[in-house]
Amino acid sequence: MKKRAVFLDRDGTLSVDSAYPSRYEEISVYPESYEAVKRLNRAGLLAVVVTNQSAVGRGLLTEAALKEIHVRLSDSFAGREARLDAIYSCPHYALSADPRYNEDCGCRKPKPGLALRAAADLGIDLAGSYMVGDKPEDIIFGMNIGATPVLVLTGCGREALAALREQGIEPAHVAENILQAAAWILERERRQGP
Ligand SMILES: [Mg+2]
Ligand SMILES: [Zn+2]
Repeated sequence: MKKRAVFLDRDGTLSVDSAYPSRYEEISVYPESYEAVKRLNRAGLLAVVVTNQSAVGRGLLTEAALKEIHVRLSDSFAGREARLDAIYSCPHYALSADPRYNEDCGCRKPKPGLALRAAADLGIDLAGSYMVGDKPEDIIFGMNIGATPVLVLTGCGREALAALREQGIEPAHVAENILQAAAWILERERRQGP
């Protein structure tokens, strides 16, 4: 049977949105993120981070450094009995001077590439999955993959909500933060049954 996932944006959702962090020390995970991920783990939902990291294409960060950040991020969750099942990132930047990264890729959110890759790797039922993020592209990404989109009001969430509503787009739910988003998802799961 296919698994279901909660896709999680990184900056502004799981951690403080600081401009183009290039070292793990610059990443500040919201304390409630650990509990949120732990609850999703316990409910049998995969926790999969999907993040646009154009800092790579902008030449501000190497792919190796990004990988190192993500290994340490996963370790910090593991050290708190929470599990990030996978982290997928888009390194592209359309205006990059580096030919490795300047393609008009299919993996920069709101395009669905990161979720399609995760679905192929991990056997995920996207329609039964969720996307939690703080920007319009996260919500539109969630809609593009047929998942249930949840907006958090951390990071750019408040501006995002206004921008989405201007476009006539309403997330399935608006949560104060990632822990409230997880609580809503789990309550919805209980109501709907397995
Ligand atoms: Mg974000
Ligand atoms: Zn990409």
